[in-house]
Amino acid sequence: MARLRWLGHAAFILEIAGWRIAIDPWITNPTSPYRSLDTFVKDYPELDLIIVTHDHGDHVGDSVEILKRYPKAKIAALYELANHIAKEGGAPDRAIPANIGGPVRLDGLEIVFTPAHHSSTIGDPSGVVVVGEDKAIYHAGDTGLLAEMQLIGELYKPVVALLPIGGHFTMGIKEAVKAVELLRPKYVVPMHYGTFDVIKADPNEFAKLVRERVPETQVIVLKPGEYFEF
Ligand code: ZN
Repeated sequence: MARLRWLGHAAFILEIAGWRIAIDPWITNPTSPYRSLDTFVKDYPELDLIIVTHDHGDHVGDSVEILKRYPKAKIAALYELANHIAKEGGAPDRAIPANIGGPVRLDGLEIVFTPAHHSSTIGDPSGVVVVGEDKAIYHAGDTGLLAEMQLIGELYKPVVALLPIGGHFTMGIKEAVKAVELLRPKYVVPMHYGTFDVIKADPNEFAKLVRERVPETQVIVLKPGEYFEF
């Protein structure tokens, strides 16, 4: 059984195949249940891996501090960004520098970075597919609608897709519903909305449209701090 917990914005804790993974760990974002890393560390005494999709502050989040607090945690990202964050965290030996499309094999886990239509300064922006326990989870990162999502759907058959719906910087609801059509996951979790006024969106509107257009996909609307198992 895998467990996925949303901490608001694009931050998730994924527990799968014995790994405790923090994705785009802006743990202390304005909607997060955690106001500081101190309280987070109490709930999560161990973390094994950080995955960061691109170098914007709301996605790198607390990565550097997490590397300092968790001496065993590794950082996976595109080549330039993984090395940069690891160096900032004083742990150059804990970088897993990767690149788009190349499966990274870890113990019982595989991660594949995917393209994203977005911007970034250090390395390219990405999404990521994490595969463990024969289940694939796709975190789209920040992106506009991407034709490659059809290939991601065909190749990895994600059980869960985590898609931004907030608009302005990423897909809005209309684009994200199309993304669900391309990906055809069993579950979709909307993210990257409601953190700030500029990315306000109604997840129930998204859920309604997905029900109409892709009835085989179930929308899981989480509140920050909530989790689900699959
Ligand atoms: Zn961004």
